[in-house]
Amino acid sequence: MRIGYGFDSHEFRPGIPLKIGGVALAHDQGLGGHSDGDVLLHAVTDALLGAIAAPDIGTLFPPSDPKWKGADSVIFLREAVKRVRDAGYGVANVDASLILAAPKIGPHSVAIRSRVAELLGVSVDCVGLKAKTPEGLNLDHAAIAHAVVLLEQSRKARKSTKKKK
Ligand code: MG
Repeated sequence: MRIGYGFDSHEFRPGIPLKIGGVALAHDQGLGGHSDGDVLLHAVTDALLGAIAAPDIGTLFPPSDPKWKGADSVIFLREAVKRVRDAGYGVANVDASLILAAPKIGPHSVAIRSRVAELLGVSVDCVGLKAKTPEGLNLDHAAIAHAVVLLEQSRKARKSTKKKK
């Protein structure tokens, strides 16, 4: 088993679309960043990469590379999932916290969890999501995400480990 942790933050900027967890949300501001600014997918991606001690999201997809300008963060997550599988692991579950003043995440929680679950190849009950407001933090201008993942050795990898013994 492996555990991984990821953190990310992005600043709200007017006039750009808001995407969280691969889901487009109606809001008057979006999250700035080199890619689409999907703070949740970035935290989950780093948690997956961290769990297998792979290079982090900023190393694999450097913001200095114009190739990733406005990129769909699903690309980053898919690469992390591929690396996890190649390392002989599968995702057991994910848990994440979002900290942002607006918009309210509650009405979109199932859609976000379903999308993340689909991208990870797990069922929706394996993706936890909590949303909090940044009370007392003076961070209403930003969105923050924390994520933890648990990986289990895949059946195929378990078999080959047994054989080696
Ligand atoms: Mg980011």
